Amino acid sequence: MVFYNFLTHRKEKFKPIKSGQVGFYTCGPTVYDYVHIGNLRTYIFEDVLRRSLEFAGYKVKHVTNITDIDDKIIRRSEELKMNFKELGRKYAKLFFDDLKSLNIERAGVYPRATGYIKEMLILIDRLDKKGYAYKGEDGSVYFRISKFKKYGKLSELKKREIKTGARVSADEYNKEEAQDFVLWKARKPEEPFWPSPYGEGRPGWHIECSAMSMKNLGEHFDIHAGAVDLLFPHHENEIAQSEAATGKKFVNFFLEGEHLLVDGQKMSKSLKNIYRLADLVERGIDPLAFRYLVLSSHYRAQLNFTWESLNAASSAMRNLRVALSKISAQSAGRNAGTAPSRQLAGKYEKSFKEAIDDDLGVPAALSLLWQVIGEEKLGSGDKLALILKFDKVFGLRLKESAAASRKISQEVRKFVAEREELRAHKQFIQADGLRKKIEQLGYTVEDSPSGPIIIKKI
Ligand SMILES: [Zn+2]
Repeated sequence: MVFYNFLTHRKEKFKPIKSGQVGFYTCGPTVYDYVHIGNLRTYIFEDVLRRSLEFAGYKVKHVTNITDIDDKIIRRSEELKMNFKELGRKYAKLFFDDLKSLNIERAGVYPRATGYIKEMLILIDRLDKKGYAYKGEDGSVYFRISKFKKYGKLSELKKREIKTGARVSADEYNKEEAQDFVLWKARKPEEPFWPSPYGEGRPGWHIECSAMSMKNLGEHFDIHAGAVDLLFPHHENEIAQSEAATGKKFVNFFLEGEHLLVDGQKMSKSLKNIYRLADLVERGIDPLAFRYLVLSSHYRAQLNFTWESLNAASSAMRNLRVALSKISAQSAGRNAGTAPSRQLAGKYEKSFKEAIDDDLGVPAALSLLWQVIGEEKLGSGDKLALILKFDKVFGLRLKESAAASRKISQEVRKFVAEREELRAHKQFIQADGLRKKIEQLGYTVEDSPSGPIIIKKI
């Protein structure tokens, strides 16, 4: 497999540290608010990455953190007059609900920052002993960037203008240099705190990920993924802290997913264009149609979300299910296809693997899926098997669609047959009544030249 590695800024052949296994860390949500469709795009990209590694035969240990203590959480819990733990539990649950709706596989471990304070303090202590940490005027502990010579490699900082920005200027006078970032924040009144050798306080955001990833995956692991807006400063700081403390390489591959735009613009509160998955569902959109939309563009390209593009993805999903019902019905009870069909299936599978292995070429893999569906030289059994194999990477629940369409009750079948009778006699109003009854039972009927196709609604 080949991935674009942000550490080296080029495509590189992937080789795991331990043969057959992959240690994989993804930055999870800060649980102070709903996740929006931009965050969800990142989680879908990471899910596809993990599925692709598994498809290639690797055993993946996937760790996703939950940031349950940070500035935003504290501010929000003050606003809502809600305990920060309660706030965190609420939004973590909603995050997991969205993952489920989008068929995102669960990580093996979801460490929560507040459960790793001890590990963070051990890490800060290691940095302190090596001269990478110092106490500022305000009692907080900072990371001394000037001592870590490799700083900025990931985000190509030299090419960028270093913007210290408003967020930094507030504590500028407390630090040796404006760029230095906080490892441990000194306690402030009314804020949650933990005891530490540096005085009471709480961890900085970046140290959380270093401590949680290294504790669960070891000090040197294979892949770290996130979104491009985490490149700087978050991932840059994670590297600096981890490598300064351990003296060795932190991660071999950094993969970063691009932004999702809404109508060509960045999502923002002022534009009122921040959407959640629930907003889409409210408009009758199937969450998997959103997943399909995300799959249709490469993870390193910006994805422009519009209602038109989402509707197009919805019809694609519907067409996919209709096609699958047909293929599934045709293949029922049949054995494997002829030798030429199997040979052709093998060719398609090879092309699919090539597409995926080339830095997750999911859009190319999706177009292969449609080619397979329309391929007349493939036997229906081979076709179905191939589609379901592809879906291990896509995660569009096509197996469920195929199986559900095969298990149709007698009652539904009877209504469909009666509806056909009525349509044949041009009694369309009555036929429509039956369609509604069928829908109430959880199925839809698609009329095709070869007869009605029954599809289970998912
Ligand atoms: Zn992180």
